[in-house]
Parts: sequence; C-alpha cells; structure tokens
Amino acid sequence: MGFTKSHRLYKRAQKLIPGGVNSPVRAFRAVGGKPVFISRGQGSKIYDVDGNRYIDYVLSWGPLILGHAHPKIMNALRTALDKGTSYGAPTSLEVELAELVLKAYPSMDKVRMVNSGTEATMSAIRIARGFTGRDKIIKFEGCYHGHADGLLVKAGSGATTFGVPDSPGVPKSYAKNTITVPFNDISACKEVIKNNWKSLACVILEPVVGNIGCVLPKPGFLETLRKLTKAYGIVLIFDEVMTGFRVTYGGAQAYYGISPDMTCLGKVIGGGLPVGACGGKKEIMAMVSPEGPVYQAGTLSGNPLAMTAGIETLKILSKKDTYKKLEQKASSLEKGLIDAAKRAGVKTRFYRAGTMFCTYFTDTPVVDYQTAKTSDTARFARFFLSMLKKGMYIAPSQFEAGFISLAHSVNDIEKTIRAVYESLLETR
Ligand SMILES: *Cc1c(COP(=O)(O)O)cnc(C)c1O
Repeated sequence: MGFTKSHRLYKRAQKLIPGGVNSPVRAFRAVGGKPVFISRGQGSKIYDVDGNRYIDYVLSWGPLILGHAHPKIMNALRTALDKGTSYGAPTSLEVELAELVLKAYPSMDKVRMVNSGTEATMSAIRIARGFTGRDKIIKFEGCYHGHADGLLVKAGSGATTFGVPDSPGVPKSYAKNTITVPFNDISACKEVIKNNWKSLACVILEPVVGNIGCVLPKPGFLETLRKLTKAYGIVLIFDEVMTGFRVTYGGAQAYYGISPDMTCLGKVIGGGLPVGACGGKKEIMAMVSPEGPVYQAGTLSGNPLAMTAGIETLKILSKKDTYKKLEQKASSLEKGLIDAAKRAGVKTRFYRAGTMFCTYFTDTPVVDYQTAKTSDTARFARFFLSMLKKGMYIAPSQFEAGFISLAHSVNDIEKTIRAVYESLLETR
C-alpha cells in the first residue's frame, strides 16, 4: 500500500492550512501517522488519492448512515442542482424536512435549521437562556457540543485527544457560566442543581456520549435529569447531533424513552451536506426571532441542496425494516469484534448504541470521561495503523465513536473482523 500522493498533498496542505486539515482530528496526530487524502466514496468504501481502498467506519464522522454516494440522494441532488444552489428565501424543501424531523421527534413542536451541529447547540443555549432569563449551564465532562465558546469546557472529541479541555481564546468570563459534572454521576447532578438552580438556564448532554467513544447512560441517569430539571424549571437539552437518526430513527430520546425540552440535530439529517437543527417545545421556540426576541439567523440556513440530501436520507431511513437491517449489521459486527478480542487475548471493553460503537483497550468498565481515559492509547495507535494498512478506515483516535452504514455488506463485516483479529495480535 503506497501513500506517496497523500504524503505529498499533506506537505502542501501544511503550508497553507493549520496542521494541514480543516478539522483537527483528521490530522492523525493522536495515532502518530499522516492523514490519507480521499478522492471518492462509494457505498461502504472510500478511495484515497494513491488508489488504496478502505472499508469506512468513520462515514464522515457520522452523517453517512446510508453509505457514500447513495444513488437516490445523488439523483435528488442532481435534480436540485439544476434549480440553483441558494435563494435566501423560503422553500418547500425546508417545510418538508421540518415535517419529517418533527414527526420523528414528538418532543419538538418547532425546529430551526442551521448549518452545523455547533450552530445548533450554540443557538439552543441562547434560546434556553432567553427563555429562562438565567445564565448558567450544566454540561458533562467529555461531552462535545461543537466548538462554541462556553461549550469548550471539559469537552470530548479533538479536545480530549489533544488534552486541551479549556481552549485558549475562550474568555474566563464565558467559561465561568459553564458548570461541568461527571457523566452518569447522579448525586453530583443533584447537588449542583440544588445549589445553583436559580441561575441555571439549562442542562445540555449527549444522551449517549459519542465524543469520548461510546459511553452509555446508566439506568436512571437520564430519568433523574428529566425529573430534576422539570422540578427546578431548567431546560433539558439533548444534543442528538450524533445520536439523532443514528441509535434509532427517533434518536436516543426514543431509545431511552425520555422527552427533553429541546433537541439539537445535525450529521445524519444533512445526508452528508452541512446541516444542523435545534428545536423544542412551542413556548420555548416562540422565543426565536422573528417570532420572539432571541436572535438567530443564517445566510445559507435551509439551503436547498442540504435540505434535499436530508429529506432523501430520512425518507429511506423511515422505510420499514431499515433499522432492523442496521441492527443486524451492527450486532454481527459487535459479536465478531468481542470474539476477535477474546481469541487474540486482548482485554477490551466494547459498547454500542444502535449503529455507533467503541472498543476501549481497558479492563475498567467505561462509564464517564475518567474511565474512558484508562484506555491504552498507545496500543490503540498501533491498532489503528495496522488496520489502515489492511484497508480499514477507523477514526484516528481512541476517543471517537465508530459507525456502520446500511451499505456495509456481510462480506465487509467478515473482512473487518478478520483484520481486527490480526491487528490485535500485532499490537500485543
Ligand atoms: C459533531 C457534534 C457536534 C458538532 O457538530 P458540527 O457539525 O461538527 O459543528 C455537536 N454535538 C455533538 C454531539 C456532535 O457529535
């Protein structure tokens, strides 16, 4: 497997773009490698500029639940493209996508489209603050909600990988309104809420934490948060940018049967184009401009191409049996991965919610940020590089979720399990 063209491009990119990439984790720094430059994707595979082929478990970091270049989405995009790329005026497409989203998430009465997950959470928090007239927020260690100021406090994803939980450039005066609590720690939540409720606007969380791998909520954790926030008039925000339409069609809120006050979406609802959304109860969303006084806007928000890709994706996902098929693929991968680790004699912990999952190189049960950090990241780095050479593209960091798509075949999964077994042996 040669990487000459990728390495040449990386050299050029580093002169032009910070770290050679437009989002930090793409640079492979956590695994001590150099990124491969991708030229195209098809189904479950991506192809790099040197002609290498990989089975893809990153899927653009979550959006591509149907795989790359799904023919229905591509055709719909071609048709939409002939009508122009943006109008800055309302379209029927925005109405259609909003209807699909609200139908799937009964906790939301209204939704506003934005261009990224970062915008969705940033807007949701502003709306929650406007609604409650309070300033403070609670977030959880290791939860990543995009890179808005005030949310980059003990955040996961790239922030965990690079050990910069508090980014320079975020004023202390912003961060001081953010209270962080360990995920799954009910008694800490109770205490913080009881002591601060008068100034608490919202509690925001990833109901399944995908930005430190895949950390599941303990039984009762989400229920208690729901009860506490309701009792004290605090807005409960589920950041389902990753879990929405991913763990199941109705997201983690349907999976666990919890109804939050507000929900943030992104990734899957854009079908691979830049989309985010934030929505919630009528009375809360009535705060949003021009209906209410909380300002929120976007030149390209509700972009017709992005709406088209989102609509087509949700249409396919809403078909009968789609999630049954996804579950079959994910569970056969799960069985194979757990079994491969056993056969290779490597101690791992595996977690999964629907089609997102993570294997940690640790013996400790992973329930929060601290326990996720017990994973042997040096071993993960060796594992990653070995997998890459076997044509397996997994996230270049221990602290990221893996994803599987509808396009992954039985053959893909079998090949992957074999590669995992061999790579695990190599890391011993
Ligand atoms: C990816 C992600 C975001 C940020 O979305 P962007 O589109 O990258 O800005 C926010 N929250 C969660 C849970 C995410 O996984």
